[in-house]
Amino acid sequence: MEEMLLELEQKCAVCAACELHTGRTKSVFGVGNPRSPLMFVGEGPGEQEDLKGQPFVGRAGQLLDKFLNAIELDRTGCYIANIVKCRPPKNRDPLPEEQEQCIAFLREQFRLIRPKMVVCLGRIAAQRLISPDFKVTLRHGEWILRGESLFMGTFHPASLLRNPRQKPDAFADFIKIREKLRELTVNS
Ligand code: SF4
Repeated sequence: MEEMLLELEQKCAVCAACELHTGRTKSVFGVGNPRSPLMFVGEGPGEQEDLKGQPFVGRAGQLLDKFLNAIELDRTGCYIANIVKCRPPKNRDPLPEEQEQCIAFLREQFRLIRPKMVVCLGRIAAQRLISPDFKVTLRHGEWILRGESLFMGTFHPASLLRNPRQKPDAFADFIKIREKLRELTVNS
């Protein structure tokens, strides 16, 4: 499975299926442990991610790491990917047609990794993967069964940097993630 992921990552690095390829320094395929039952999905790379080729490495990424550490996890205990693999200009939302082109990579990642829990970080990922009318402020922390995987939407770490008052709600979601992970580990 790791080899197939690597092949897919190499395809992603040279992909020109949508306009976003024209502005990228590096595509950002995904990092972490593909054998973990837990996958996080954000919306797309920002400036630092584009430079380094890794998801969530700027300030928002540092906050994500803090939340992971608070539930005794780090990047070796989960897998992290995005809806689009190349940086949208000026960090705008990825357009529906860009998401549509790029989602094939994420579908393949799902098919190979088969995560049991998928946590959508922010509105774009939650609306794409859970439901088009998903409102993070109303439905964060809710587990929703899709096929054989449980999906949850929670706050994007960048939005938590802008609205620190949402941090306790986000932290409560991470506690639920820890509980579900334990439950799945005990039952597997
Ligand atoms: S965003 Fe996705 S579909 Fe568009 S060029 Fe990058 S890898 Fe290809």
